[in-house]
Amino acid sequence: MDLTPKGKIRCPKCATIMEKMPVTSTLEVEHCGRCGALWFDPYELESTLRADGGSLGINAIDYGTAQNYDLQVHGDGSRQCPRDASPLVKVPDPRQPHVIIDVCRTCGGVLLDAGELKDLSEFTLSERLKAFLRR
Ligand SMILES: [Zn+2]
Ligand SMILES: [Zn+2]
Repeated sequence: MDLTPKGKIRCPKCATIMEKMPVTSTLEVEHCGRCGALWFDPYELESTLRADGGSLGINAIDYGTAQNYDLQVHGDGSRQCPRDASPLVKVPDPRQPHVIIDVCRTCGGVLLDAGELKDLSEFTLSERLKAFLRR
């Protein structure tokens, strides 16, 4: 039996029910208060980075630390998409290959561990600055 409340999803890492975090008036991302993981539906990650964290700011959205919890729901360490239960695939982020992100090939959702959004946003900022300086 699935006891997850309607409209909520469980963290793929530690099975905690994730809370919605408002980024902009039209965008909410799912945040795990236990391990700090973040779930982005398709395009939400790009929108969050483009809005630089929106009204909250990146540091308020991504405040956890990845090392603290490596709790696994599944014995073999695999993680499942909270939307459609497809296995999440680890891929290097195309913007910043040292950040390994978990992607769902079925729905296009992305799971970030705590600290990874910060990492990606810093890259975005430095790239923006470089582009600015090249002008
Ligand atoms: Zn979690
Ligand atoms: Zn999915």
